[in-house]
Amino acid sequence: MSLLLRNARLLDVATGDYQEADLRCADGRIVETGTGLSAPDGVRSVDLAGAPVLPGLIDAHVHVTASTADLGALPSSSPSYVAAHSARIMSGMLDRGFTTVRDASGADYGLCDAQEEGLLRGPRLLFCGRALSQTGGHGDSRGRGTRVSDDHPCCAGLGRVADGVDAVRAAARDELRKGAHHLKVMASGGVASPTDRIDSTQYSMDELRAVVEEAEAANRYVAAHAYTARAVNRALRAGIRSVEHGNLLDDESVRLFAEYDAFLVPTLVTYWALKKEGPEFGLPADSHRKVDEVLGQGLVALERAARGGVRTVYGSDLLGGMHRHQNEEFRIRAEVQKPIDVIRAATSTAAELLSMRGEIGTLEPGAHADLVVLRGDPLTDIGFLADPSHVMGVVQGGSVVSAQRGSALAA
Ligand code: ZN
Ligand code: ZN
Repeated sequence: MSLLLRNARLLDVATGDYQEADLRCADGRIVETGTGLSAPDGVRSVDLAGAPVLPGLIDAHVHVTASTADLGALPSSSPSYVAAHSARIMSGMLDRGFTTVRDASGADYGLCDAQEEGLLRGPRLLFCGRALSQTGGHGDSRGRGTRVSDDHPCCAGLGRVADGVDAVRAAARDELRKGAHHLKVMASGGVASPTDRIDSTQYSMDELRAVVEEAEAANRYVAAHAYTARAVNRALRAGIRSVEHGNLLDDESVRLFAEYDAFLVPTLVTYWALKKEGPEFGLPADSHRKVDEVLGQGLVALERAARGGVRTVYGSDLLGGMHRHQNEEFRIRAEVQKPIDVIRAATSTAAELLSMRGEIGTLEPGAHADLVVLRGDPLTDIGFLADPSHVMGVVQGGSVVSAQRGSALAA
């Protein structure tokens, strides 16, 4: 597939400047950018009339299998039924401009292969399989009255329970065996889990270090769910590279992010959505009450981290029917960050976290031709990204995969 986009405003996310130029793709990659490019025979040429073009967006914290916000009910859903939901959820993400997503538990090699083979439309999918959780931790979906484990391979849950250094090593190796791009551990309590407290720490340091060691042995890294400073800081000291949420982090955390070369992936939109719509989409009442403990502090934590130079990456973490709010995270973050910094979180910095620098999150020649074309300039009004109705079209691997009706990109 070849494509020439003419008269575009190409955003260089490194400098924050636009270049008025053309962009040509071939064989799935960006081949060249510059003025007055001509289309070789058979190449589709589209005049964008000055529309801004950004690298395809990256969301580093999604759950494409979260068909409901009632995570306790998920393991009893049929995997084929959940896969049908995943296809719908991933398709929506692509239309919102996301061409790569990192799944933070739930997705497996089947969905990844299906997307790669074109069986379903959606963003490139980097998965971790099941998140590792201690008994009674954020990945243990059993209510208090349930004794038997629901951690069964045919089920569609997000987590697996493993206790003790040997057991977590075996679980980590098993997820790597199934092709995990990274490992995920639950290092503190969470909102959507039935029996834990938000302010708990989860897993011993020995267990966390064992998971990190297994990931590093396979040239992979570990992402950890953690809210409080206590949980975040011990995760960082254990060698975790990607801290998820971090709503209650402190100045010591900021120092440790630098010391350990780690990334922060806030997911502010999910608390906003859970507060507003959680119960409507299956969030149990006990979980809804826990939202307030993290909602207000998230933006404060992001500001503190950004001011301290922590590399922050875009995450949304939405569940069930709330996925449609995925782009709202741009607007929320823009309350404390410049638009270009929020855009970097969803492009170049995300690419660094995913070890795909130069491959995605940039418009430089050689990168995958994953692009999003907008109706207006998000640097002056973040609303052009935060509201997906302003996405004129999406290019993935050099092909137009989404186009608003009547727009220049529509066939
Ligand atoms: Zn989490
Ligand atoms: Zn999550």
